[in-house]
Amino acid sequence: CGVFGMIGVTDAANFVALGLHALQHRGQEAGGIVSYHPEHGFNSARRFGYVRDNFTKQSLMETLPGALAIGHVRYSTAGSKGAQIRDVQPFFGEFSMGGAAIAHNGNITNAEALRRELIERGSIFQSSSDSECIIHLMARSLQRDIPARMEDALRRVEGAFSVVAMTRTKLIGVRDALGVRPLVLGKVGDGWCLSSETCALDIIGAEYVREIEPGEMVVITEKGVESTHPFRSRNSRFCIFEHVYFSRPDSIIGGRSVYETRRQIGVELAREAPIEADLVCPVPDSGTPAAIGYAHESGIPYGMGIIRNQYMGRTFIEPTEQIRNMGVRLKLNVNRALIRGKRVVLVDDSVVRGTTSRKIKEMILDAGAAEVHFRIASPPTAWPCFYGVDTPQREKLLAATMSEDEMCEHLGVDSLKFISLDGLYRAAGESEGRNNSCPQYCDACFSGEYPVEPADMIEKGFKL
Ligand code: 5GP
Ligand code: SF4
Ligand code: MG
Repeated sequence: CGVFGMIGVTDAANFVALGLHALQHRGQEAGGIVSYHPEHGFNSARRFGYVRDNFTKQSLMETLPGALAIGHVRYSTAGSKGAQIRDVQPFFGEFSMGGAAIAHNGNITNAEALRRELIERGSIFQSSSDSECIIHLMARSLQRDIPARMEDALRRVEGAFSVVAMTRTKLIGVRDALGVRPLVLGKVGDGWCLSSETCALDIIGAEYVREIEPGEMVVITEKGVESTHPFRSRNSRFCIFEHVYFSRPDSIIGGRSVYETRRQIGVELAREAPIEADLVCPVPDSGTPAAIGYAHESGIPYGMGIIRNQYMGRTFIEPTEQIRNMGVRLKLNVNRALIRGKRVVLVDDSVVRGTTSRKIKEMILDAGAAEVHFRIASPPTAWPCFYGVDTPQREKLLAATMSEDEMCEHLGVDSLKFISLDGLYRAAGESEGRNNSCPQYCDACFSGEYPVEPADMIEKGFKL
């Protein structure tokens, strides 16, 4: 998901809509905005579909007045498929000291246990979302102001969270102790904003100030930014898959360009897994920077052998298997004239179920390619993510049950190679590779080493 918040400008909701539009790649199912105006109180709008199709209408934006607003773009992760409008964030709660709205990116790994406990003690849940727990925990806190209640609530919460919240006068941002999901601070004129990624600062002309630190809470009023560190931990574990796939390539993470990391992954891949071929093609768009790096390092010409229909979203984000299957052809087509007779290296970001790779291989061979070699910009995805990226159950992951050679055979390609975990870390700027005793990133979907125990899943029988 993507979150964005803005304080200290006229019609903050318009800025939030623009920010969410720039974060649309993080979730395309639905979006929502809450704003506050001293005369009109809290207002909210939650809609299915793209930001541009909803939050551009003047008639809707007029209902969201005020200098303070937050928003959310949603893509559902495990357990909450087939969203209903009541699952769309931000969530709102009315407390004795006033209202508050929250937008959450990440996934709470003990949400089911918390929900059971809260329901037993009288909470009435409105949605099926794990994030709603935060509001109910806040309602039960005895603290006297909302930031302190949030702190109380988030202490009970395990897993990954980047939260943007608001009261009548404050914009609040929090990251979990490990800083798994991103959150940055920006400034525009007298106003401040919080955003999942820096690409959303660019769209509103905001200046990048800094990242919210792992375990940090910022409370922003018109007077400025106050920072505390209620959830400190020894080391951070940012999601390495944000670098590979999830973030936009024009975003900056940890002072490093996502594009540059992806291009460097391609360079590493070309060194680790060279092949004789005539053409390097990306699987657009997520494989493009890595393909550029692979072509550069190998000296093999780069070409657009697959053309993407720009009017399709991210296929993976379509919740059902059937739509995803169709999705590949609706979204990608082969550039036959370029492919015919060539030995082609296809570079993609990841193989999850293998649906995309199989279809693409068929399309490329149909177009007359002589050979197809897959090069993948992440290590084999052998474990599900429980921290806010939608991976299927372990059984559906190709790499959970097959070796690299078996996957190659299953996909029916001439060769298949994944970047090593160390190569990926090097590409992300860790020149010594992965520190195995204390990894610099979360890489659980590749390594099976979960930095936060996924309590709900273990209870359901998931084996680490
Ligand atoms: P597969 O078809 O193997 O199941 O999925 C791989 C494709 O889905 C890749 O082309 C990649 O761009 C995209 N993808 C991979 N992992 C994820 C993910 O966790 N979330 C989303 N939204 N897309 C993904
Ligand atoms: Fe990111 Fe993978 Fe960790 Fe999930 S498990 S947070 S996708 S690195
Ligand atoms: Mg892709």
